[in-house]
Amino acid sequence: MPERTPYIAANWKMHKTLAAAAGFVDALLPRIATTAADVVLCPPFLALAEVVERSRGAAVRVGAQNMHEEPAGAFTGEVSAEMLVEIEVDAVILGHSERRRLFGETDEALARKVPAALAAGLEPILCVGETEEAREAGQTEVVLERQLQADLAALDPAGIGRVVLAYEPIWAIGTGRTASPDQAQAAIAFLRHSLEGLGAPAQEVRILYGGSVTPGNAAELMAQPDVDGALVGGASLDPGDFAAIVQAA
Ligand code: PEP
Repeated sequence: MPERTPYIAANWKMHKTLAAAAGFVDALLPRIATTAADVVLCPPFLALAEVVERSRGAAVRVGAQNMHEEPAGAFTGEVSAEMLVEIEVDAVILGHSERRRLFGETDEALARKVPAALAAGLEPILCVGETEEAREAGQTEVVLERQLQADLAALDPAGIGRVVLAYEPIWAIGTGRTASPDQAQAAIAFLRHSLEGLGAPAQEVRILYGGSVTPGNAAELMAQPDVDGALVGGASLDPGDFAAIVQAA
């Protein structure tokens, strides 16, 4: 079975000015200088270039939080993959539940965004996850399977192998209600099994857990055999907390 390098991504959402982003990077880098994990910082669009410059030469990569599926066009307010690559962005979060819920992100758009990101040389971090109602109705696996199949529909198995997945139960995001390690493991093992069903190199795909990860619970979550890292929201805003999560990987 291939070794999967742990992967920790910070989703800052709509937080941090340029000055705050710069201060964060300067505070973080010395704290994680010896990590073997893949670390990806995902600031708001306007801070991307600053974080790229500030972390040059360090073992940190930079991701956006969204992109448009078309290369260019009359899409007011949107940003293309090419624009991100031009400023040396490495990755992009796609399908975050806040984008799906608040901004009408659809599986159809994601089925185009994921291959567009890969074609441009960006690493997609594709988020999937169930609502509380779906979990209570015993529909977690149905929802995950549906999202996975729809969002990856345009990729061949090798393409799927280049995607990073994040299992983010919606009821755990920003709520302080973390999934238990067993819940995270079960859902992520299910996702890996589904990837196998799609013919993808499932054992090579990094699958992260996201949802109220903190320095206090990160180690236990990431100790699960199928949990390869974390997508961190709130706790990624503080360099000390985020560094502690990176150290736990
Ligand atoms: C997220 O936004 O992806 C997330 C997991 O947020 P939080 O860690 O705050 O729950």
